[in-house]
Amino acid sequence: MARIDLEHIRHAYGEKPASAADYALKEVHHEWSDGGAYALLGPSGCGKTTLLNIISGLLQPSEGRILFDGKDVTDLPTQERNIAQVFQFPVIYDTMTVYDNLAFPLRNRKVPEADVDRRVREIIEMIGLGDWARRKARGLTADQKQKISLGRGLVRSDVNAILFDEPLTVIDPHMKWQLRSQLKKLHRQFGFTMVYVTHDQTEALTFADKVVVMYDGEIVQIGTPAELFERPSHTFVGYFIGSPGMNVLPVAIDGSRARIGETEIVLDHAPAIAAGAKTELGIRPEFVRLGRDGTPVRIAKIEDIGRQKIVRAEFSGQSIAIVIPEDGEIPAEPRVTFDPAAVNIYANSWRVGGEG
Ligand code: ATP
Repeated sequence: MARIDLEHIRHAYGEKPASAADYALKEVHHEWSDGGAYALLGPSGCGKTTLLNIISGLLQPSEGRILFDGKDVTDLPTQERNIAQVFQFPVIYDTMTVYDNLAFPLRNRKVPEADVDRRVREIIEMIGLGDWARRKARGLTADQKQKISLGRGLVRSDVNAILFDEPLTVIDPHMKWQLRSQLKKLHRQFGFTMVYVTHDQTEALTFADKVVVMYDGEIVQIGTPAELFERPSHTFVGYFIGSPGMNVLPVAIDGSRARIGETEIVLDHAPAIAAGAKTELGIRPEFVRLGRDGTPVRIAKIEDIGRQKIVRAEFSGQSIAIVIPEDGEIPAEPRVTFDPAAVNIYANSWRVGGEG
């Protein structure tokens, strides 16, 4: 397995890019550690596949270098990068049995047959196709074929990295959950460097140690699920992670005072904000306290989502979401306060330092 260094990577599909908008990837400069499980998460068109293809060698970046364990592989084709890949749709040999499909990447590299057998049996159980080992792949369902694809990606233990591009799209929801947990287990067991592209936050948060959130051709945050939840670096992360997403409210900052409409909130630090920047306050719905203290709110709607309720309310002229327990009481004259430790301040969409 390998550490992956992405050095000042930029990519434009068109000739002669003139401005930032012409780049599908604006600037990616990060080190991904050996044995890390990373999920690339972001909306359609943000550049996830472009970045994955640059790592795999399917695409050459317009600018920058990519290194595996310090070795520059930017100009190497995919075959010479020693990686395994799993795509959205199955890539398998229809005329071979399930067993032979899984054995293929190992036999191809002249692995002794006893080791092939041990490894294939292990993987075939993991993907739940033990009973199908001797069946030809041709007759299998799309779901089963994709499991073979996954298995083929996981069967070699000597690869630099395993890259997954939305691999569970064709898998049924129950099996999805199972395969995701098994991938995680396998990662813990073998310490593969894994990069997993998805636009599904549940998939990313359950699979990865580190989630790489992309937005409009940029990485806006790399963090653990807890970091993304508690300290979103960019308002997009706050909005994209969590359900409902973070409340992002326009705010005027004066020293350590934040003013939203008629409401003043005292911060525990004075954020350093450049003159003229657009300032916003971020507070997750889970950290808005509904009770008899604080700023009066007008409740517009209450959604019951099982163990919790989402209260939609108007707060100083802004819409906010509040999450309360299923049996949480709603006072006749409701007011809210914000948990000060959970308040984040943003300038031009980026979080301003300080912890509160
Ligand atoms: P999705 O989840 O829809 O696959 P993505 O996050 O993987 O999206 P990319 O496929 O990397 O995003 O696309 C990033 C941007 O680059 C998009 O604006 C897309 O239209 C553009 N793009 C992707 N491939 C090409 C191509 N071959 N030629 C020109 N533009 C492309």
